[in-house]
Amino acid sequence: MAILPGATIGILGGGQLGRMLALAAAPLGYRVHIYAPESELVAADVAARCTRAAYEDRVALSAFAAACDVITYEFENVPSDTVAFLEGLKPVRPGHEALDVAQDRLAEKRFVEALGGRPAPYRAVDSLADLEAALEALGTPAILKTRRFGYDGKGQVRIDRADQSAAAFAALGGQGLVLEGFVAFHTEFSVIVARALDGHEAHYPVCLNSHEGGILARTDIPATGIAAADVDAAIDLVVRVADRLGYVGVLTCEFFATEKGPVFNEMAPRVHNSGHWTIEGARTSQFTQHVRAICGLPPGPVDLLARRIEMQNLLGDTSARWPALLADPQAHLHLYGKSEAAAGRKMGHVTFVMQGDPFTGLRAVLE
Ligand code: AMP
Repeated sequence: MAILPGATIGILGGGQLGRMLALAAAPLGYRVHIYAPESELVAADVAARCTRAAYEDRVALSAFAAACDVITYEFENVPSDTVAFLEGLKPVRPGHEALDVAQDRLAEKRFVEALGGRPAPYRAVDSLADLEAALEALGTPAILKTRRFGYDGKGQVRIDRADQSAAAFAALGGQGLVLEGFVAFHTEFSVIVARALDGHEAHYPVCLNSHEGGILARTDIPATGIAAADVDAAIDLVVRVADRLGYVGVLTCEFFATEKGPVFNEMAPRVHNSGHWTIEGARTSQFTQHVRAICGLPPGPVDLLARRIEMQNLLGDTSARWPALLADPQAHLHLYGKSEAAAGRKMGHVTFVMQGDPFTGLRAVLE
């Protein structure tokens, strides 16, 4: 049954993704209630209500659930137990199964393999002996990663020579690790799919992503240079992942494009940084799409509104660029309202919608 406008959407997590979800919920008439423990919650600045409490606080969670009609999350490190507890009280979309898979790199790779996907070659590592055997099997360079709680390139160390193994192992805490063989990719791309309550899916054109220091720096649409068959295979895989999880909402998977086809990197059970361009570049943004899906409404059209779109992340202090961006008619500046511009921190983004390009009108769809 649809959760109609006027209802309250609860969001676990209070960062920029929650902020942009709240901004997308407003024109559809929904109210948003943010729940997160941090002192600075940039999502709460644009939400009707906010609960600042720990994810383990069952009293606060119960009160939050009582005040919401549907609950979602904008952050994949919310404890799965928290989501499972809330599921006993109100619909939570997507549910905790998606978190269980996405929070553990090993579980995620096995899950995707079982659906016919191809992750980077990998080995579980729980001891130095495991790591040495894994390096022997996979060769160097390789990347040692924590199974849990990694993001934006954190929780991973590149190993170029076998004699670096002990230091890398110690640096990551010595257990619950996975070694990945280095993938010789020519491009990175992501697939963003929205799955509705009735199982209908809508996906955007794939996004071409450039990372710097493990952090997304830029996304380009269209994603040129990737074979059409590889794009199709990646989209098919993400749809299978969503179907298997009975997923409701926006799901993102990142891939490496290689000579031998797409290699699955990781999934995010949420709206994604590589989809920020959809706010101005697509008829329905990923945020609106997520709100529609979790409220039981049908997905909106995913047509592009320009032939070429570029999103750049604004990392750290970029205030010197703001005047030029504000003066550029093709630039849509988004600032997240964070108080500390720490180096590498995502402070905002800018989307360039290239109106000067050949443009065939609102029905333009890029293949
Ligand atoms: P991750 O947080 O695992 O997505 O890693 C961040 C970035 O590091 C990726 O977007 C890639 O640019 C790079 N990277 C991660 N794993 C690999 C790998 N197995 N082979 C090559 N590059 C990788």
